[in-house]
Amino acid sequence: MRVSHRTESILIPASESKMCSMCGDHAHYVEISFESPICSIDCAKQMWKLYVDTQVSRQYKISEFMPKDQV
Ligand SMILES: [Zn+2]
Repeated sequence: MRVSHRTESILIPASESKMCSMCGDHAHYVEISFESPICSIDCAKQMWKLYVDTQVSRQYKISEFMPKDQV
């Protein structure tokens, strides 16, 4: 059984121009889950991937019963 993580990105148009948190490009959106400026859905996916990877490695130490097939 695999644990499904939330990986959907919710982007809203940025009200002010900032730099993308992932690549430093001009950000046209804000990722509302992280409240981070983001330039594209691709960078949002990367941000989610980083977040999920961090969560997984953190939970791995806490929960011995977490599935290990995703590590
Ligand atoms: Zn970007």
